Amino acid sequence: MILSRARSIVFDFFMETILCGVDLGGTKLSAGLFDLKGRLLDKTVVYDHVDKNEDMIVEQIALLVKSLLKKNELEEDILKGIGVGFPGHLRFREGITITTSNLPGFVDYPFKENIQQFFSAPVIVDNDVNAQAYGEYKFGAGRGHDNMIFLTLSTGIGAGIILNKKIYRGKTGTAGECGHTIMDINSDMQCSCGNYGCWMALAGGHSLPKLFQKKMESGIGTLLNLDWNFSYSQVDGEFIKKGLDMEDPVCVALVNDCADYNGIGIYNLFQIFNPSMFMLGGGLMNWGPDFHMRIQDKFSSMIKNMLHDPVEIVLSTLGSDSGLFGAAALVLE
Ligand SMILES: [Zn+2]
Repeated sequence: MILSRARSIVFDFFMETILCGVDLGGTKLSAGLFDLKGRLLDKTVVYDHVDKNEDMIVEQIALLVKSLLKKNELEEDILKGIGVGFPGHLRFREGITITTSNLPGFVDYPFKENIQQFFSAPVIVDNDVNAQAYGEYKFGAGRGHDNMIFLTLSTGIGAGIILNKKIYRGKTGTAGECGHTIMDINSDMQCSCGNYGCWMALAGGHSLPKLFQKKMESGIGTLLNLDWNFSYSQVDGEFIKKGLDMEDPVCVALVNDCADYNGIGIYNLFQIFNPSMFMLGGGLMNWGPDFHMRIQDKFSSMIKNMLHDPVEIVLSTLGSDSGLFGAAALVLE
């Protein structure tokens, strides 16, 4: 069924080429085929890449893309290009990975070159948050916002920055690491980078156990039923969400703090870049509309009369496939 639908879309619109996106994550690896309007034609998802080394993952990506084409009776020369989202730092022009905290290896690894060996269509590899930002700009609610910032609020915090219709990458390709900007020089919250008081140390998923512990020790009573073998290391975004649903004062206070730091972070980015839109994605946005609203309110309370044109602070629209859309969109940049 998918096969015939895919082909009819392709040929109905007289498209000669299609896009391929690959999203490499810490838990799932997905590949998808899209038409030039960003409509998903077919996709495939696997989870067994996590124990493989870099070369094996490259081979797996090549195999996934080739079998997806074959399944849809498409030849490789129909591909305009293959975009790959990588969950970490990389040297963009060379396509060499620097580091990733989500997968073993990938230190100074020639990722782009090695994937390219399997294909004649051009391969583009970029950081996954950059890819998501560009996907939202090309295919999501970011359309028309030629200056926009996509923020992922997840285990870490990072931004994909669209400036004048293009991804702003900086010299190496690591621009947008706003999660490591320092928000509180007196903070005792240590970040994965080693510094104290980074934005993501104060509001990122990685810090939730420590943030929760501090709130508990501050004397706020909790409604949560913590059993005898409870350990703070169990605290993650989902745990906090359950607390929010019960209106637990500890979780509410913690989430309010995180929202305020995110509002301040967005305020800082606004003053530097003056975008017309911020788009918020990542697992912590599951905390719900009150969290979103408090971020907006914090921003508004700080920007006051320094706002001369409207700025939207909206939720990501492409959902769980945003990485895949984004990777495919890289081909169009
Ligand atoms: Zn940091």
